Amino acid sequence: MSSPVVDFIATEARFGARNYEPIGVVLSRGEGVWVWDTEGNRYLDCLSAYSAVSQGHCHPKILAAMVEQAHRLTLTSRAFHNDQLALFYEEIAALTGSHKVLPMNSGAEAVESAIKSVRKWGYEVKGVPDGQAEIIVCANNFHGRTLGVVGFSTDPETRGHFGPFAPGFKVIPFGDAAALAEAINPNTVAFLVEPIQGEAGVVIPPAGYFTEVRELCTANNVMLVLDEIQTGLGRTGKLLAEQHEGIEADVTLLGKALSGGFYPVSAVLSNNDVLGTLRPGQHGSTFGGNPLACAVARAAMRVLVEEGMIENAARQGARFLEGLKDIRANTIRDVRGRGLMLAVELHPEAGRARRYCEALQAKGILAKDTHEHTIRIAPPLVITGDQVDWALERFAAILTQDFS
Ligand SMILES: *Cc1c(COP(=O)(O)O)cnc(C)c1O
Repeated sequence: MSSPVVDFIATEARFGARNYEPIGVVLSRGEGVWVWDTEGNRYLDCLSAYSAVSQGHCHPKILAAMVEQAHRLTLTSRAFHNDQLALFYEEIAALTGSHKVLPMNSGAEAVESAIKSVRKWGYEVKGVPDGQAEIIVCANNFHGRTLGVVGFSTDPETRGHFGPFAPGFKVIPFGDAAALAEAINPNTVAFLVEPIQGEAGVVIPPAGYFTEVRELCTANNVMLVLDEIQTGLGRTGKLLAEQHEGIEADVTLLGKALSGGFYPVSAVLSNNDVLGTLRPGQHGSTFGGNPLACAVARAAMRVLVEEGMIENAARQGARFLEGLKDIRANTIRDVRGRGLMLAVELHPEAGRARRYCEALQAKGILAKDTHEHTIRIAPPLVITGDQVDWALERFAAILTQDFS
């Protein structure tokens, strides 16, 4: 359990780059929706590592698959075939209805890979003049932290002093189909967008937005790239968030819960010939598609379906949302969510969301503030109705306090 000699928080602060500002809790164990700190205190995890631990902490079947594979073979590089990659392809294609798969590691790498692929598609298939490809993105987007990706962020914190950045991106407002129609030109190769903007504070676009977006992209031969790294794999109560509007992206990005939190695994999925433009030597990753990652991802996808986690996310998400809406507190400005991707936005006068998260911690709930005034709530998809009610009691107690 706890080591009496190491002050974990102080030691992190002394040696580590200070690029995070964690809540003051040191975790040492997790199981299902619960995590324990080094002193043995138990918390309900309402962040799930930003939706990477959707299947619950240390899911026994994913753990078993990982250990079994780790004993046999972990990494071959793509210089050789391995006996897990083909099965991973087959199973992720069957699950998502995709034709082609590109395995990567982090979410940001999947985004970068999609950008490279749609540009290549633009030049080789659509016929865009070399070097002229444009990609449309949305204001307040979050697609990761690589240089390419932060270059088209609109958050000064995210992009400040990291430039110069690559050209070729056009920013439009989120949820505004008319703005997309106006921004598309003959050199537009793709529209890259999150179905629900997670890091921006769980921003849900107006109903019908993605139906219009789909029509515009099809009409203009523009690839619709949906970043489902956070919304995908059951988080919103459907396998993919695109299903809420009955549309299909041309390119879908998955990550986070693709491994159930055991290992970085991401994937670019495509329904057409975008990935078909990549030929040997043109893109790659030492770890992408490694047998350990594939075995873990296969188990993570399997338990998601077999254990009914997607349906549970819809059911418990509705219960959680209703319960939050029932809390009468003048600290609350808005409550929103889809499935188990929920947020409580506080009135600016109610004080910083961080204070509320610290108060929740004292009551046994770990949640994370986003953007000063919003508390994000995203527990593992295995949460039960009783656990939702337990959490709601504590949210009600905290939200009716005033920390301004
Ligand atoms: C987390 C996230 C990413 C980046 O994933 P990393 O694994 O942190 O690189 C990209 N897009 C969205 C929508 C995300 O939530």
